Amino acid sequence: MKTAILTGITGQDGSYLTELLVGKGYEVHGIIRRASTFNTDRIDHLYRDPHETDTRMFLHYGDLSDSSGLRMLIERIQPDEVYNLGAQSHVKVSYDQPEYTADIVGLGTLRLLEAIRDFMERTGKQVRFYQASSSEMFGAANPPQGLHTPFHPRSPYAVAKVYSYWQTVNHREAFDMYACNGILFNHESPRRGETFVTRKITRAVGRIKMGLQDKLFLGNLDAKRDWGHARDYVEAMWMMLQQEAPRDYCIATGEAYSVREFAQKAFAQVGLNYEDYVQVDPRYFRPAEVDYLLGDASETNAVLGWTPRTSFDELVTEMVEHDLELARQEKTLLDAGHQVALKGIGNT
Ligand code: NDP
Ligand code: GDP
Repeated sequence: MKTAILTGITGQDGSYLTELLVGKGYEVHGIIRRASTFNTDRIDHLYRDPHETDTRMFLHYGDLSDSSGLRMLIERIQPDEVYNLGAQSHVKVSYDQPEYTADIVGLGTLRLLEAIRDFMERTGKQVRFYQASSSEMFGAANPPQGLHTPFHPRSPYAVAKVYSYWQTVNHREAFDMYACNGILFNHESPRRGETFVTRKITRAVGRIKMGLQDKLFLGNLDAKRDWGHARDYVEAMWMMLQQEAPRDYCIATGEAYSVREFAQKAFAQVGLNYEDYVQVDPRYFRPAEVDYLLGDASETNAVLGWTPRTSFDELVTEMVEHDLELARQEKTLLDAGHQVALKGIGNT
């Protein structure tokens, strides 16, 4: 039985990757941030009391800002594989919190790599490392972008990811570590954070259809993204750590659509015209935009034998159906006299 440590287990990708690894017989140890309320919604269905004998997922408090905690967990758990998914992962928020983003997304990776290196050198045990790199690193580079495209990051988030990318490469080259960057293009799902544009759209589609909301305010409708399904993408992460030798990979669908096209398709699915509901609000524009991401994953497909299973249409359909059901539940609660709070802070 293999043992894996995941940072970012409570996030979209962490939850799908945990399902995959538990299904493969792994013991999964997730690092979570302590919060005054539970932040484990995405993995609650996998939780078992640690006293039970069939427990496969264990949670530990920790933070990418805290080296000593990371070192202690590596020592105690002695993992075979470490997946670094933890991040302040929102591009727009990285403009509000550039220094924090650099600390967690940039230095956090170095803290983890150094903890693993130290552990490996002292014990002789091999640990394989996955770094969640991002297509945002390509930023302003012309599409299609792939493994040989020079980076041109356009946000504090993307700059910090470039730093982590090179730290991962350097630990591989300098210390002979099995460390891989997965440069993943945008991937979505019904578990995507609600301030990312796809989920913001599908949540609004459900609520508008159920009469709970009138309008949807968005920023740049012309930005294009290569959107895949997170469930497919976590499989590629795992595959990267099962090869003979470490290297970097690009994961993408090879198709790009605009935010406008996503909105059009999502509204059309419930019989509505997006133009009747969507309004552009400049508050959602970014100081520097990433206009067009389109991935070239041909090398990855050849080496890993990985291809995406979910089409763009299937992704939109799954997200809209899920969020329509959520809105139905909200409506039922409202009709029964309960208060339903709309969460958000209004600028993402
Ligand atoms: P999410 O935003 O859904 O999840 C981020 C995770 O990181 C959460 O579990 C969050 O915990 C955790 N986290 C945040 N801050 C810290 C910290 N200081 N210390 C430890 N953990 C922290 O991201 P995704 O699942 O979508 O993405 C996973 C990774 O892949 C991220 O690194 C992201 O940047 C990267 N990526 C994502 C892409 C995408 O399209 N989804 C594309 C390319 C790369 P909490 O729940 O407490 O907030
Ligand atoms: P990103 O690619 O990691 O920045 O993922 P997002 O889902 O946050 O944004 C994708 C694209 O959608 C970017 O080009 C945004 O500028 C654009 N966009 C347009 N309107 C919005 C909005 O209201 N919220 C967000 N998050 N993005 C928007």
